[in-house]
Amino acid sequence: MEIEKIRTVDNEIAELIEKELDRQRNTIELIASENFTSPAVMAACGTVATNKYAEGKPGKRFYNGCEVVDEIETLAQERVKKLFGMEHANVQPHSGAQANMAVFLYALKPGDKILGMDLSNGGHLTHGSPANFSGMYFDVASYGVDDNGYIDYDKLEKTALEHKPKLIICGASAYARIIDFKKFKEVADKVGAYLMADIAHIAGLVATGHHPSPAGYADFVTTTTHKTLRGPRGGVVMCSEQHAQGIDKAVFPGIQGGPLEHIIAGKAVAFKEALQPEFKQYSENIIKNAKKLAETLISNGIDLVSGGTDNHLMIIDLRKFDKTGKDMSNVLEKINITANKNTVPNDPKSPFVTSGVRLGVPAATTRGFNVEDMKIVGEIIAEAIKNSEDEQKLSELKKKSLELCVKYPLYPNM
Ligand SMILES: *Cc1c(COP(=O)(O)O)cnc(C)c1O
Repeated sequence: MEIEKIRTVDNEIAELIEKELDRQRNTIELIASENFTSPAVMAACGTVATNKYAEGKPGKRFYNGCEVVDEIETLAQERVKKLFGMEHANVQPHSGAQANMAVFLYALKPGDKILGMDLSNGGHLTHGSPANFSGMYFDVASYGVDDNGYIDYDKLEKTALEHKPKLIICGASAYARIIDFKKFKEVADKVGAYLMADIAHIAGLVATGHHPSPAGYADFVTTTTHKTLRGPRGGVVMCSEQHAQGIDKAVFPGIQGGPLEHIIAGKAVAFKEALQPEFKQYSENIIKNAKKLAETLISNGIDLVSGGTDNHLMIIDLRKFDKTGKDMSNVLEKINITANKNTVPNDPKSPFVTSGVRLGVPAATTRGFNVEDMKIVGEIIAEAIKNSEDEQKLSELKKKSLELCVKYPLYPNM
């Protein structure tokens, strides 16, 4: 057992990792960006590949002794290209943020105009937030959602025509509906902009045909590997042959040093898993579970942004209960459900407080939760919102959560 190997050297860290495993086992994980990667993926990440310096790319490294990691990295590239139908892939980005940074470095000069989805409407920090390099080094225009919670494509087009951005970014961290990549491409073409699709959240759904693919529309496709794709923590950037060399140079030496070949081995294993029929079934179960959770919340009087979901996540709008996302996510933690506070469109509260909670089902679905379980989870959450000050009620709800956790053992052999 890996934890025992750690314990022989460092009991403090071994204890803490065991504690974290217990925490994961005894909570219902509904953070939409999290998942439980397979023991095989985890094992690949904990191998001797961590010892190897491999600056450069397969066949063109700066150090000797890369012939084996070259094969590992090439397999990862081939598999991810097949998953997403893209011509070129760089699997070295340490995270989703790095994948995006590589595109920016390749496609833009400091001060260039970019058009991204507003963070408070569901976009990501790296899509032009003032707190992020993307908002500091570039001139940012943004689009968002309409009163119904759907992307406002008319406003997107108007803003694009007005600002003439060099890069348009689509893809989101908190958006529950289908993203129309074709429409984005039409707008990008109208103003001569590059289109980047950041599919960090929906990658697993895209790979299995449960969300339309940006391939054929986007010049650049970036993703994380650890969300619906269920791999190790990391990023990937993909493009056509035309941009391949430039993107590779942007990743290294542009923004990173040596690639994490042990994590790339984990990515390769995850991509292999994602190419199997079982993964397609898993994605289908995600969609079914998300719909059931949304339906249950709505039928119990809870509002959702856009009134439901097409993908793996949903945003609860707490405004009618006069409760905050901050308080509700803490109440859910008390009853062993982990979720994060999230702004709702036009949120009257600050991003640290918020009026919403984001819920996602990928992790619970990996664990085995089915639609009947999701109905129970939805009822628990609705009850918790309505009785958030009733300690007796909350302790009953916590018991129900724990019953579900016991029903689906997590990492039983660890
Ligand atoms: C999660 C996410 C990222 C960033 O991923 P990290 O691995 O945390 O850097 C980028 N874009 C979107 C849309 C995301 O949801």
